[in-house]
Amino acid sequence: MLIIGAHMSVAKGLDKAAQDTVNINANTMQFFSRNPRGSSFKIYSEKEIAKFQELRKEYQFGPLLAHAPYTLNLASAQEKIYDFACMVMREDVARMDALGIEYMVFHPGSHTGIGTEAGIQNIIHGLNQAITGNENITILLETMSGKGSEIGVTFEELKAIRDGVTHPERIGVCLDTCHVFSAGYDIVNDLDGVLDEFDRILGLDLLKAIHMNDSMMPFGARKDRHATIGDGEIGLEPLLNVMRHPKLQGLPIYLETPLEDEGHKEEMKMIREML
Ligand code: FE
Ligand code: FE
Ligand code: ZN
Repeated sequence: MLIIGAHMSVAKGLDKAAQDTVNINANTMQFFSRNPRGSSFKIYSEKEIAKFQELRKEYQFGPLLAHAPYTLNLASAQEKIYDFACMVMREDVARMDALGIEYMVFHPGSHTGIGTEAGIQNIIHGLNQAITGNENITILLETMSGKGSEIGVTFEELKAIRDGVTHPERIGVCLDTCHVFSAGYDIVNDLDGVLDEFDRILGLDLLKAIHMNDSMMPFGARKDRHATIGDGEIGLEPLLNVMRHPKLQGLPIYLETPLEDEGHKEEMKMIREML
């Protein structure tokens, strides 16, 4: 069965986001673990959590994915930025784990001048503060497009992060189709080759989730601009081929295309028909 959903707003509550997920005929969702551009988080009420858990169970949602805020940079050498990132990771891993959320994805970070190696060491140190090893949640490293000084652009960098942490068993990968295309992995002409490379370097068993996006920017542009499915430089068939690929069956798929709920509902309908 296809497990597909979209990035949902939790501004009106976790329960409301779950109800919206049902309303757009999705069976999973992604949501921000806290304010994506700030630092605050709202404490969920008991009633809200109870309703959320009830809906999730009733409609048999697949794995749920929390997304860490964009303001978090675990690779930073600036003390204030780094300490903030470490604190958010610690808090949100614990908060999302307590809710029984299966996965939490984050952008590994940007080294902003200190170099990839040093950035990776910072990320590892930060993850080690956040992950106790007693969680049920799995932390996913997102494959990045390579804009600026982003880390996590190559499978090797993701592997280095995972290998460095004390609890690698709690770390997986979320593949973003727009980002890998933009980073120079040719999923249009050589999807098998890209997946073989992922398998060789990381192991396909570490791939836990897919962010399904088309790209406004051309192949290898190292720019992060999502397009709606079929309206970008990747195109409809190559994206359908990702969803059809025998090695990727059963993985939860999350749309992060520039659409509201109604648009995502239509996009998923189209995807189901085409598949
Ligand atoms: Fe992301
Ligand atoms: Fe993404
Ligand atoms: Zn993106």
